[in-house]
Amino acid sequence: MLTRLKKLLNLNRPPVADHGSDSFSMLLENSEDLVLRLNGGIYFTYVSPASRHIFGLEPEEMMGHALRDYAIAEDREALIANGTRLLGGQTDTDTSSFRIIRKDGALRWVEVNSKAELDRAGRRTGEFVIVLRDVTEQKELAAKLAVLTKTDGLTGLANRRLFDETLERCWRGAQRTKNHLSMLFLDLDQFKTFNDTYGHQAGDDCLRQTARAVSSAILRPEDLVARYGGEEMAVILPDTDGTGAVDVAVRALDAVRALKIPHAHNAAGAGFVSTSIGVATAIPFGAETAGSPGALVEAADGALYAAKSQGRNGLAVAPPVMMAASPPA
Ligand code: GH3
Ligand code: MG
Ligand code: MG
Repeated sequence: MLTRLKKLLNLNRPPVADHGSDSFSMLLENSEDLVLRLNGGIYFTYVSPASRHIFGLEPEEMMGHALRDYAIAEDREALIANGTRLLGGQTDTDTSSFRIIRKDGALRWVEVNSKAELDRAGRRTGEFVIVLRDVTEQKELAAKLAVLTKTDGLTGLANRRLFDETLERCWRGAQRTKNHLSMLFLDLDQFKTFNDTYGHQAGDDCLRQTARAVSSAILRPEDLVARYGGEEMAVILPDTDGTGAVDVAVRALDAVRALKIPHAHNAAGAGFVSTSIGVATAIPFGAETAGSPGALVEAADGALYAAKSQGRNGLAVAPPVMMAASPPA
């Protein structure tokens, strides 16, 4: 089988295999995968007909070109680096994926499995064979799944998992840059009574609307609004001091009030849905100081409790949380 495949890919053959009775030829002609042979590891000496649906190009148009000619600029460097390892003998096989622009202008993901051809004694022949396949659908599906695992299904906000990851990252970032890190903790007022009065469906709808309102109060792309649990939301505000955090909290309070969602039993909101907010800020304070992301969450939660006790539909600020800053490198 190897001998026949080699014969088929022989340099002396025409670039496009003919539709003869050769079963290997038929295999290549009909395969969804593109088979390429590379002379010296770089230039195509054989291109199978799958080039038509993957690249929108006739095999003849691709002959003599190199894989890197088709990768988009952002992906070219990594592709060349992998190719160099294969050519340099550091590896005999390589799998890489990169993006191409098809002839019709569509951006597509492709995956290549490249292999150095070896003779019976295991020595390199100097030829390379590549099987290339369009993996755009798989890539898109994987990207969608990655988003879904980090998104709250009801509100579309970041979920608890993404909140935890982001908080850890922002905490380390703040320690490094010695910047303040703030957090808001929000909880809708008398929401149990809202559900009891208007029904769970209306409750869900109210959660979706308030999530959008709170998001509208956040102006920087680095900020993150998450659904922390039930009717609680949390906001991470990197590089934001206490004053900045209070500004955001005031905007969030106003945005929820402006929705004017009727809530007859919420006196604090004068008959409309309202929220209470706890504000907390971590301050970098010398390398020996302790502190943890958990302490910031606790502080924001404590302030939220204070905002509730103070009458709801307002905010309270926690005492600053001390954060050990990284010592200078
Ligand atoms: P407070 O002002 O003290 O926060 O009062 P509350 O009634 O909002 O407080 P509590 O935490 O006791 O009630 C939260 C309620 O939020 C309980 C539950 O009925 C409602 N809730 C939590 N998650 C959801 C949800 O996903 N959908 C709906 N519709 N309601 C939810
Ligand atoms: Mg609650
Ligand atoms: Mg509540």
